[in-house]
Parts: sequence; structure tokens; C-alpha cells
Amino acid sequence: MRVIVVGAGPGGLTLANGLRQAGIEVVVYERNQQHGRSQGVSLHLEDQATTALRACLAPEQLDMMSAAVGARRDRVLSLTEQDGALVVSGSQSFENAPHLSANRRPVDRQLLRAVLLSGVSDVVRFGTALTGFEQRSDSTVRARFADGSTDTADLLVGADGIGSVVRRQYLPHVRVLDTGRCTLLGATPLSSLAGTGLPELIGDNPAKVQVTGTTMIVAAVRFTAPPPALRERWQAALRHGGVSEVEDYLMWALPTSAQHRGTDDSSEAVRRHARELTAATHPALRQVVEQARPATLARLSIGSLTATSPWTASNVTLLGDAAHAAPGFGANSAMWDAQRLNELLIEVAGGKQGLLAAIGTYEEAMRGADARPASFPGARPQGRPTGTSA
Ligand SMILES: Cc1cc2nc3c(=O)[nH]c(=O)nc-3n(C[C@H](O)[C@H](O)[C@H](O)COP(=O)(O)OP(=O)(O)OC[C@H]3O[C@@H](n4cnc5c(N)ncnc54)[C@H](O)[C@@H]3O)c2cc1C
Repeated sequence: MRVIVVGAGPGGLTLANGLRQAGIEVVVYERNQQHGRSQGVSLHLEDQATTALRACLAPEQLDMMSAAVGARRDRVLSLTEQDGALVVSGSQSFENAPHLSANRRPVDRQLLRAVLLSGVSDVVRFGTALTGFEQRSDSTVRARFADGSTDTADLLVGADGIGSVVRRQYLPHVRVLDTGRCTLLGATPLSSLAGTGLPELIGDNPAKVQVTGTTMIVAAVRFTAPPPALRERWQAALRHGGVSEVEDYLMWALPTSAQHRGTDDSSEAVRRHARELTAATHPALRQVVEQARPATLARLSIGSLTATSPWTASNVTLLGDAAHAAPGFGANSAMWDAQRLNELLIEVAGGKQGLLAAIGTYEEAMRGADARPASFPGARPQGRPTGTSA
């Protein structure tokens, strides 16, 4: 069996690793170049993602992963300013929040990508955008790419994100909805916040603080292994993922409305916008914005997908955000999809069931994932603490 995966996001790369481990031929096509700009700063790994990584990665990758995650987080703090000082005014436990595991841990997106790439870098074709596909009478599927090349496989997996080209052709009635929300993001080295007291005040838990017209989320990412040890031990893998700097940092997010976004997405424009939103706040938070590393400054739009009724299984399928946008939980969902699909494809390769039956089973479970709620700062599902990641 040969599988084409479109998209080297967390979902596509987790699947590719799992297939690789199982000896199934896989090739990944990614439209961006290898060291393209990352989508955000850090993610929360819930139990679903951790289980998926355990199932799909090689032992040395898991070793690297466990050194690359931050400390466990179990609550979100509220900060306010009192007599010129930032203080913790409240705290809400994640304990009763559905789908948020007690073991949730932050992971740096670029480090996660580096770990995932280290297992499959030789089968990822960067800079190759899928433009369409053709399902052929001999049960194979032929993928077409922007550079004029084609490739053929037994299964095509669209792991190409919310704007999925695969989904647009396969399920053309599904539309992307603009939620009207976007989030400004950045990462600020903890070393540049020395003396502000902020990293010590919040410890390892995320915190929210009211700024002009929105709630700013800040959370320290302190790696389990000291960054210099990480750098030295996994140099080669870090290079694959384009990770140039590993140091403890404070990630911050400012959810805002897209109408204020403007057209300039450069890092300086993002910093200017973040400066405006935090102008009237405590100096420590202003310093967080001023000292953010330019490469991490980003403005991400939040989209969602219209609902779809079940479709007939074929040799084309979808995974992660391409199938069900779950802002704030999407990477966990995508990795969970990848693990499930991987397990079923291993059964197909072992002759235990046919491909279409396996895809049907996978898609039924994957569609159920739409019900999973979001935990992301901009998304505020009812009855749950404001999310904490980016
Ligand atoms: C601000 C913010 C914070 C978030 N925080 C969290 C969090 O804490 N936890 C969490 O679980 N989720 C979080 N999410 C959601 C998460 O980022 C996504 O849900 C997740 O990245 C989806 O993974 P994916 O593999 O399905 O798709 P993506 O990560 O979108 O990857 C798709 C890949 O496909 C490639 N691609 C697209 N089109 C083509 C094409 N035509 N040909 C080839 N390649 C193509 C893209 O370049 C991309 O690399 C957050 C999202 C945002 C915006």
C-alpha cells in the first residue's frame, strides 16, 4: 500500500511517522518550504495527542519529545493591577473542564515539528502544493501539483488544514466560515523579563489579564530539559525543523476582532497592534510585547467549517483541520485522527480488512470529533475557563 499525505502539519506528520514505523510506504507533500514560518508559538498537548505520539513515534523521538515539553498546567490564573503591582486575583482549575486532561503540557510548535520531521524528513517534499486529484478506475488516486508533477497512490489523505484543497474538491459543499476573530501572538524570552517579577508571579500556569478591549493570555514555557542540553543533544533534528533558538519563554496571545486587523501582517505591524492593546496596562506586560522575538510575532485568523453530513468512503480522506476545524484543540484532534487512521491502515496492510471499510470506520470516528470543544484563548465555550494556549 502507498499513501500520499498532503500537508506537513501536526496531523499529517504524525500519520506519516506512524505509517513509517509500520513499514507502510508514505510520501508527504507540503506547499511551504522546510523552514517556513510556523503557525503560532506553543500548543497544549492533551492526553489524546500524547497517546497518539506514543503510538506513532520511534522511542528516540519520544525521548526528545519528553524533554521538549513544558511543565504540567492545571489551572488558569487571573491577574489584576493593585497599587501599581500585578497580583494574582483568582485561579480556576481545569479539573472539571471536559477534554482538558490533568496532564496537559505546553509544547513549542517548532520543537514539535522538529521531532515529527526527524522521523520522516526523507519522505517530505517541501515546496510542492497540491492543486487537485483524480480517482481512477484501477482504484488508485493521482495527485497533481502546482509544479506540473503528479504522483499516484492507493490512498490520498488531505491533512492540508482549514483551507484544504483536497476537501474543496472532495466535499465542495463544505465552506470555510470567517469567525471575525483573530489572535496576535508572540514569544518573549524569560531572560528579557528578568526583574519584572512576572515569570515568578505566574509560575508554570497560564494567566489572563484584562487589557484594552480584550483579555491578554500569558504563559511561561519552561522546558523540562535545560535548553542548552536540548540544543546539544538534538542538534540534527532541530536543524530539520528550522529551530534556531531554544530558550525558556513567555508566550502571549491577544484575541481581537478581525475588523481591526488591517492588511499588514508583518511582525512590526503585529507589534504595533499589540502595543495599542496593552498601552494602558502594567509596564511588565508592555515589556512582554516590546521584547518579543520578531520571528514569533504573528496574527492568525480563526476560521470554522460549515457542518457536513456523512459521505461515502473512498480512497481519498481528510484529517485534522481539513475535516473539522476545532480552534484551540485542533492539533490534538489532528493527532488523534492520525493515530486512529494509522491503526486502521496497519490492519489494511496486514490483510485484516479492506481499505474502504477501514476508511469508513475512520471517518465515522473522525466526524464525531466535531463535537470536541475548543480550549483556545479566543474561543470561549460556555461553562469552561477561558483557554490558555497559542
Ligand atoms: C492562535 C492559535 C492557537 C492554537 N492553540 C492550539 C492549542 O493549544 N492546542 C491545539 O490542539 N490546537 C491549537 N490550535 C489549533 C491548531 O493550530 C490547528 O488545529 C492544527 O495546527 C491543525 O493541524 P493540521 O495538521 O490538521 O493542519 P495544519 O497545522 O493547518 O497543517 C496543514 C499543512 O498543510 C499545508 N498545506 C495546505 N495546503 C496545501 C496544499 N495545497 N499542498 C500541500 N500542502 C498544503 C500547510 O502549509 C500546512 O503545513 C491553535 C490555533 C491557533 C490559530
